[in-house]
Amino acid sequence: MKNISCMDMGVTCPFVAEGETAEDAVMNLTTHATVTHPEEVAKMTPEQMKEAMMAKFHDAVLPVEEMPPTA
Ligand SMILES: [Zn+2]
Repeated sequence: MKNISCMDMGVTCPFVAEGETAEDAVMNLTTHATVTHPEEVAKMTPEQMKEAMMAKFHDAVLPVEEMPPTA
């Protein structure tokens, strides 16, 4: 599971987009941003936005008990 939040993109908003892949998460955040933050979306092209998001996404943080044991 991957996620990226509006906070990651510098927008003060608690929304976190999740996806099985980075592409899914980016797509979900783009959909949210288009509806909720049109003024932010207007600042860049879809290509620039996707590129910026792909640079920011991260793996969803696993609960401590699911962390792989350290060798
Ligand atoms: Zn948002």
